[in-house]
Amino acid sequence: MTQQIPMFIDGQAVISTSSDWLDVTNPATQEVINQVPFATAAEVDQAVASAKKAFETWKDVPVTQRARMMLRYQHLLKKHHDEIAEILAEETGKNFEDAKGDVWRGIEVAEHAANIPTLMMGETVENVANKVDTYSLIQPLGVCTGITPFNFPAMIPLWMFPMAVVCGNTFVLKPSEQDPNTPMRLAELFYEAGFPKDTLQVVHGGKDQVDQLLNHPDIEAISFVGSVPVGEHIYRTGTQNLKRVQAFAGAKNHMVVMPDANKQQVVNNIAGSACGAAGQRCMAISVAVLVGESREWLDEIKGKMTEMKPGYWKNKESFYGPQISPQAKQNVENMIKQGVEEGATLLLDGRGHTVEGYPNGNWVGPTLFSDVTVDMDIYKKEIFGPVLCVMTADTLEEAIELINNNPYGNGTSIFTSSGAAARKFQHEIKVGQVGINIPIPVPLPFFSFTGWRKSFYGDQHAYGKQAVRFYTETKTVTSRWFESDIPDDTGPNATINL
Ligand code: NAD
Repeated sequence: MTQQIPMFIDGQAVISTSSDWLDVTNPATQEVINQVPFATAAEVDQAVASAKKAFETWKDVPVTQRARMMLRYQHLLKKHHDEIAEILAEETGKNFEDAKGDVWRGIEVAEHAANIPTLMMGETVENVANKVDTYSLIQPLGVCTGITPFNFPAMIPLWMFPMAVVCGNTFVLKPSEQDPNTPMRLAELFYEAGFPKDTLQVVHGGKDQVDQLLNHPDIEAISFVGSVPVGEHIYRTGTQNLKRVQAFAGAKNHMVVMPDANKQQVVNNIAGSACGAAGQRCMAISVAVLVGESREWLDEIKGKMTEMKPGYWKNKESFYGPQISPQAKQNVENMIKQGVEEGATLLLDGRGHTVEGYPNGNWVGPTLFSDVTVDMDIYKKEIFGPVLCVMTADTLEEAIELINNNPYGNGTSIFTSSGAAARKFQHEIKVGQVGINIPIPVPLPFFSFTGWRKSFYGDQHAYGKQAVRFYTETKTVTSRWFESDIPDDTGPNATINL
C-alpha cells in the first residue's frame, strides 16, 4: 500500500481522515513516492486552535531560550543537509547540487533567526518630557500561516516559520502539495531542536485548505509565495479579512548585456541562469536584452545553452532536472508553440526532449527564442521552464525603459565593465533585486528578499529585519515614576503636547 504522509497537528503526527489524496511523484520517472492528503476542514480548525492555545505560553518563553533552540535547529539542518537534499531531489527532480543549495539558503535564514534578541530590540528615548521616558517593545502577533510553492520546498518554508516562531508566534504551514516530504522533514528537525511541537503545525492541501486559513478568524498574518493569480487572490482575501499579508508572486527577470561586458562571463551566466533548476526559479533569467554590438553574441549563447543537459539527479552530468509535473511540462511546451505562432525565431527547441533511461520524465530541453517583441505572450507571461527570450536594444536607456514597462519586478541584472552604466542601471531600474555582473541576485538573510510591483504584494518582505517587523507588533510605552508622594515640579509639563 502507498504510504500516507501525516500532518503535524497539536503535537501529533496525524493521518488525515480525508477521502481526498494526491500521489506525490518522482518527476523523472512518475513513480509514486507516497500520498498527500487534502485536510478536512475539522483538521485545519484543530491545527489553528492548537496553535492559538500554544501561543499563550510560547509568547512568554524568554527570547534567549528561543534563540538557543534556533541555534540547535540550524545545527541539525546542517547535520542533515545531504539527507534533506536527497528527499528534495527525489520529489522535485533538482540535481543534487541545486537541491543542496535549496536547503542551504534555508539554513542561512535559520542562522539569521538565531540573532533574534538583537533583531527584536526596541528603541528608547529618555526624558521626552521632564522625568518621562518613552520606549518601544516588539511583541509577537499570535498565529501566523505560510503557504509555500513547489519550487523551493526547503528554502521557502524556512523563510517563514523560523522567523515567525522565534519572534514568539506560533505557525501553521501549508506546504505545496507537489513536494511535501521536504517540509515535513524540516518540521521533524524543528521539534528535535526543542521547539514545542504545537508551535509549528503542518496541514496539507490546496485551494480549499488555503481559503479556510485565509478566512480563519484566529489567523493574524499570512505569508504566501507562489504564482501571480494565486498571490493576488491571497492578498485580496487576506487583507479584506483585515489580516497582515505578504504575497511573493511570479516574475520575468531580464539580464541586460552591455557590449563592454566580458563575453565569456555573459555567455556562461545567461545559459546557466536561464536553464538552472529547469527554469523553475522565481529569479531565473528568462529575458536577455542584448545592447548594441552584444547582439552579435547570440551564436555563442546558443552554443552554451546546448551544453545544458537535463537528467536524473543522481547523474552528475545532469545540469538540471525535469519540470515538476506532466502538466507543467505541457504548459511550457504550449508556450513554446505559442512563441512560434507569434512570430519569434525558435533557435533551440526543447519540446519532445528525451533522456536516456528515463522515458517518462517531464523533460524540456534548453529553448532559445530571438526576435521576441513586447506584445508576445512568451514575453508577457512567466513560462517557468528552461526558455530564454532574447531581445535587443540600441542603448542602455532603451533597455531600462523596456524592463520598467514590464509589470514584474522581482530580479534583474546588468553585465558591464562600466561603473557609470551599472550606477545608472541600479538607480533607474524599477525592480527590487538588482545584480551587477551577478545573474541571480538573491540577498542573504541579513538583508530582505525584496521583489517589487507584480512580483510582490504587501510592504514588509521575507527574512532580515523586514520579517521581524512583519511578524511583530510595536508597542510604545511612555512612563513616569514618582520619587515621593509629594507632587514634584513636573506638573502638567509631564504631558507631551502633540
Ligand atoms: P502556485 O501559486 O500554484 O501554488 C503556491 C501555493 O498556493 C501552493 O501551496 C498551492 O497549494 C496553493 N494554491 C494553488 N492554487 C491555489 C488557489 N487557487 N487558491 C489558494 N491557494 C492555492 O505556485 P507554484 O506553481 O507552486 O510555484 C511556482 C510559482 O511561484 C511561480 O510563479 C514562481 O515565480 C513563484 N515563486 C515566486 C517567488 C518569489 O519570491 N517571488 C519564489 C518562488 C516561487
